[in-house]
Amino acid sequence: MIYMKEDKTRKHFTSYMVGGKVFTKEKIGYLTDKEAIERARVMNCREHTIHKLVAYKCPICQKWHVGRSRKVLTEKEREHYRKAYTDIEQSKKLAEMRYR
Ligand SMILES: [Zn+2]
Repeated sequence: MIYMKEDKTRKHFTSYMVGGKVFTKEKIGYLTDKEAIERARVMNCREHTIHKLVAYKCPICQKWHVGRSRKVLTEKEREHYRKAYTDIEQSKKLAEMRYR
């Protein structure tokens, strides 16, 4: 039961280590799922991301957060996110060019 309680609060707080000490802070809250999904995608593209990052709605603040899932990101998935991200970047650039 204690574990469950901890798991719930972890959804809203993020902990990180600085100089061997653990710090806890509130997670960044996104107003829309789109923003959170986009953020998770960018993070999933990173080389050092081991666990897949997912967007979820927080039961505490009702905003969207990005959190680590238990799933390990495969090279295939990373490629998928990278490709999707590149596509978005390219279409953004194309849209900008059109306005010039
Ligand atoms: Zn929250």
